[in-house]
Amino acid sequence: MRFVILGAGAMGSLFGARLAMSGHDVALIDVAREHIEAIAGGGLILDQDGVRKRITVEASATPTEIRPGDFLLVMTKANKLMEALISARRLIRDSGNIVVLCNGLGCGQAASQLVPVPRLLYGATAAGAMLDGPGQVRFTVDGETFIGPLAGPVPAGARVLAEALAGAGLPVQLSERIEEFIWTKLMVNVGYNAAGALTRVANGRVVGHPAGRQILEGAVREAMAVAAAKGIQLHYDDPVQFVVNLGLQVIGPNPSSMLQDVLRNRETEVEWLNGAVASEGARLGIPTPINQALAGLVKVLQDNYA
Ligand code: NAD
Repeated sequence: MRFVILGAGAMGSLFGARLAMSGHDVALIDVAREHIEAIAGGGLILDQDGVRKRITVEASATPTEIRPGDFLLVMTKANKLMEALISARRLIRDSGNIVVLCNGLGCGQAASQLVPVPRLLYGATAAGAMLDGPGQVRFTVDGETFIGPLAGPVPAGARVLAEALAGAGLPVQLSERIEEFIWTKLMVNVGYNAAGALTRVANGRVVGHPAGRQILEGAVREAMAVAAAKGIQLHYDDPVQFVVNLGLQVIGPNPSSMLQDVLRNRETEVEWLNGAVASEGARLGIPTPINQALAGLVKVLQDNYA
């Protein structure tokens, strides 16, 4: 099958590399010209457990240069989603399914302004990756990807996609209730992302510090209260403990992706994470002072990069 990946940063490059390695035809689109030129010139390097593989894939910074495929995977940050979709209108029109895999609240709903709902899939991934440099991606965390439709039953296209991703070593759970997975995944993001970005330390150091842990736990509790008010069932028995353990055991050495953005003076996804929890909380009358403060401080930081 042919997969076109719009937003080939860390996650898009990881998915692209794995799909290409399992025999699919892959094209990567990204506005980061240096990254695209490195891939087009010398291939995409995937570093997995210290073993580096060079993979040949098509790469372009111009969506109109790329032929549509069976699937258009959109893997930009949430804050760049609409801009990317607007640049790829022809690919949206001529591709099979469009699959939006950004972190944060409201990405599927936002994409439905430009993508016909019957061909739109969306979700979240618990896998992790980092870019080590132009054309070089490192696989950091093994994790499932959750995909489903915005409305209605899981379509046949989603099953075909899940099989292809699983064949590429990226296991997928399909669901008609994808919001539950998005909110469940959100617990980890609201805990670590902004706190890591503001303190400039790795996830393990946020949760390993008593003050960091208090803020992290408070942010997660607020998000749990908002989810409960919306009637959303979370998938962890004890979300606070799950998030704490994840930072202590699995993602401890990693800098949060928001910290990586801040270190590169890039606009962050905070409005779709802590900011979205605070907005939903305000709408529903649930107090979210910690998420509001984290989102506000990150906004001050990113508005003052210059
Ligand atoms: P990233 O910043 O590495 O990649 C995003 C890419 O999108 C960048 O290369 C950027 O140049 C590109 N882009 C921006 N605007 C574009 C446009 N208009 N057209 C085409 N490309 C454009 O981010 P990432 O870490 O790969 O994360 C992608 C999504 O996955 C985010 O929502 C993130 O929160 C989520 N996520 C990341 C991880 C991780 O470990 N990195 C894990 C789980 C989920």
